[in-house]
Amino acid sequence: MNASSSEILTQGLTVKLEADLDKNFGETIAREAHGEKLFGCIQCGNCSAACPLSVWMDYTPRKVIAMVRAGFKQEVLSNRTVWLCASCYQCTVECPKGIKITDVMYALKREAIENKIYPKNFPVPILARTFYSEVKRTGRINEIFLLTNYYLRYNIFKMLGYASLGVRLFMKRRLSLFEKGMTNRKEFRSMLNQ
Ligand code: SF4
Ligand code: SF4
Repeated sequence: MNASSSEILTQGLTVKLEADLDKNFGETIAREAHGEKLFGCIQCGNCSAACPLSVWMDYTPRKVIAMVRAGFKQEVLSNRTVWLCASCYQCTVECPKGIKITDVMYALKREAIENKIYPKNFPVPILARTFYSEVKRTGRINEIFLLTNYYLRYNIFKMLGYASLGVRLFMKRRLSLFEKGMTNRKEFRSMLNQ
C-alpha cells in the first residue's frame, strides 16, 4: 500500500483495496490539467494552508492531490471540495513544486460532470449544470428561468422562501419574464459542442 492510501485509511474513511482504485485517474487528470508535475507533490500542505475555503472542504487541496494520484476517483469526484473551489489560484501560487492545483480542480469538475458523479444534496453542481444548460439553450441567462429550473432540480420548496424577494426585484425591473436569447443559437451550440 502506498503512502497516500495509508494516510486516507487513518482518516476513518471506507477501506478500499488497491485493486479497486482507478490507477489511470491521476494520469488522466494530470493530462487534462497540464499537470505533469502532479506526481511530484511532496505533501507539504502549503496549498491547504493558503486556501481560504479549505475549512469548509471535505478534503483539503493537499488531500485531493494525494487522492487523485492514488486513484480514489469515486471519492474525489463525489466530494464537495472541487465545487467549493473559488478558483482564486492562491494554492497554485504557493505550491513549491509548481503544481497547477486550480487547473486540477477544473479538470475534476469536468470529470465529475462527464461521469455524472456529484456530492449528494449539494446545490453547487446543480446550479453549474443548470447555468450551462440555460446558456446552451438560449445563449444568454434570464434569472427567472435560471432560478426556476435550478430550484425545480434542487428543491422546489426552497424557492418559496425567495418569492417575496423575487416579486420586489420584479417590481423594480431587476427581473424580466422575457427571454432575450441569441439570434444564431445553432452556431453557438455547435461552438459549445466542439
Ligand atoms: S503545495 Fe504543492 S507540493 Fe505542497 S501539498 Fe500542495 S500540491 Fe503538494
Ligand atoms: S484555487 Fe481553489 S483550491 Fe486553490 S486556494 Fe483557491 S479556492 Fe482553494
